[in-house]
Amino acid sequence: MKLGINKINTPLIGQDVEKMELLFENLGESTFRGRQLFDWIYRRKIDDISMMTNLPTELRSKLKSIPFHPLKLVINKYSKSNETTKFIFMLKDGQKIESVLMKEDNRITICLSTQVGCAVDCDFCATAKMGFKKNLSVGEIIDQFFQIQSIINQRITNVVFMGMGEPFLNYDNTINAANLLHHPKGINLGAKRITISTAGVVPKINRYTKERQPYRLAVSLNATTDDDRTKIMPLTKIYSFIELMNSVRNYANNARERVTFEYVLLNGVNDSEKEAKELINLLGNINCKLNIIPYNEIDGKFQRPSEQKIEKFLKIFSKVKFPVTIRRSKGTDINAGCGQLIINSN
Ligand code: SAH
Repeated sequence: MKLGINKINTPLIGQDVEKMELLFENLGESTFRGRQLFDWIYRRKIDDISMMTNLPTELRSKLKSIPFHPLKLVINKYSKSNETTKFIFMLKDGQKIESVLMKEDNRITICLSTQVGCAVDCDFCATAKMGFKKNLSVGEIIDQFFQIQSIINQRITNVVFMGMGEPFLNYDNTINAANLLHHPKGINLGAKRITISTAGVVPKINRYTKERQPYRLAVSLNATTDDDRTKIMPLTKIYSFIELMNSVRNYANNARERVTFEYVLLNGVNDSEKEAKELINLLGNINCKLNIIPYNEIDGKFQRPSEQKIEKFLKIFSKVKFPVTIRRSKGTDINAGCGQLIINSN
C-alpha cells in the first residue's frame, strides 16, 4: 500500500533506518533516500527538511509537512549551581515528562525518562506518587536528547535512563532508544556511555543478560535484606531479594562492564554500620561498583542522613575491592535530584 504523504504524521525523530527506508519506498522512491534522511537527522542533527540539500527539491517539498519532534519543550529551569538544568516536555496528549541535564568537568550527562509516572511504587520516590500513566515511545525518549542537545549546543557525552519511570517495564522502547543513540551511522554514542537503571525487574535483567546488551546496567538495591527491601520497594514481593541478587550476579559474570549498584541512603532506615557491612558481604564477590546516593527529601516521610552520618557510612567502605562513589545530586534546589521528578497538575 502506498501512503499519501499527508497521511504520514508519525514524527521522524525516533524512527530507525528501516522505517525511514520504508517511508521512501511507500512514496515510490529509492530506499537510499531513507538512509540520507537518517544521516541528516541522527548524525548531523538537522530537523529542517529544507536544509537537507542532497534530497531533490521536489522530494523536500513533499516531505515538508512531516513533523520531526514528538515532544514540545515547556520549561527549562537552571539550578543555582548552574550545573543542573531541568527540562519539562509535553507529549502530544498533553501529559508531561521531565529530563535532567548535569554538567561536571567535561562530562555532560542527560537523565532521560522512559515512562509518564511509574508503576513500581518505591516508597521514597516522588515519581511513584504520580502512579503509572503510560510508556514513552522511542521517539518520545530520544527527543529529550535531541531537543536538549540543540538547546545547549554542546555534545552530550553520557546518557542515563534514570528519569521518570522504570525502563525495564518499557523494555523494547528503552533498548531501541539506546540502539538509536549508539548507532554508528547516527548519534554514535559509545555503549559504555549509556546506562540503564532498573528497580529490579528480574525477568528483564535475565533477558538483558541473554541478549548481551552492550549498555551499562545499574540496579537500585537500597537495602540488604528481603524484609528491609520489601518495606521500601514493594517490587521485592514479586521479585525477591535473593532472586534479584542471583540475576544480577549472573549478569555480572557475563557482562564486559561492571554492574552498578545504587544505594539511596535513608536516615535511620538503611544507613547503619550493620547495613554497610552486609552490603560489603553481598557485593564483595561481584564485579560491580557501588553508587551511594544520599536521599533527596520529598515529602517528609524519609530524611537524608546528616553529613557526619554519610561520612561515617562511607568510611566503612574504605578498604573494599570494588569502587564506591557518592552521588551528590546538584539540582535539589529545582527538584531535579534523583527521585524528585514529579509532574503536578499545577
Ligand atoms: N526506575 C529506575 C530508574 C529511576 S530512579 C530505578 O529504580 O533504578 C533512579 C535512581 O534514583 C534509583 O536508584 C532510585 O533508587 C533513586 N531515587 C529515587 N528516589 C530518590 C530520592 N528521593 N533521593 C535519592 N535517590 C532517589
